[in-house]
Amino acid sequence: MKQSFAIIGLGRFGASVCTALIEAGQEVLAIDRDEDRVNEYMDIATHAIVANAQDEMALRSLGLRNFDHVIIAIGEDIQASILVTLMAKEMGVTRITAKAQNTYHAKVLEKVGADRVVHPERDMGERVAHQLISKNILDY
Ligand code: ATP
Repeated sequence: MKQSFAIIGLGRFGASVCTALIEAGQEVLAIDRDEDRVNEYMDIATHAIVANAQDEMALRSLGLRNFDHVIIAIGEDIQASILVTLMAKEMGVTRITAKAQNTYHAKVLEKVGADRVVHPERDMGERVAHQLISKNILDY
């Protein structure tokens, strides 16, 4: 079934989530404050918009509540990531996935309403380790 996703932040993580969702036939609104990033995804995402998600008026105008999932893929600017997660929650977004830079960031994201927190580097490291172990067991 087709679901709708809004992705805020088109860095490496947000961009790869966007591409994978589109390849899986989902509907994606891609948002970034950087116009060049948005232009890159104009022909890939279903819609792409330049907006500063920290600006509450701009965030409200995106109608995030109407999406099945919102992914907050802002990494470096921890303050922005927390604020945008909080505002999305207050707007009534049902499912929020947020990217964390570290354990403390992850804890705050959970407190302010993220339903799922991902740490791409840590999660991928764990996955690779498990794959290596299970591969070794199979090889054995
Ligand atoms: P990655 O590791 O996924 O490349 P990162 O952790 O380095 O990303 P950033 O580069 O800080 O994270 O942010 C990812 C994207 O989010 C960037 O394209 C940036 O322009 C965008 N971004 C950051 N803050 C905002 C904001 N307030 N509103 C919209 N987009 C934002």
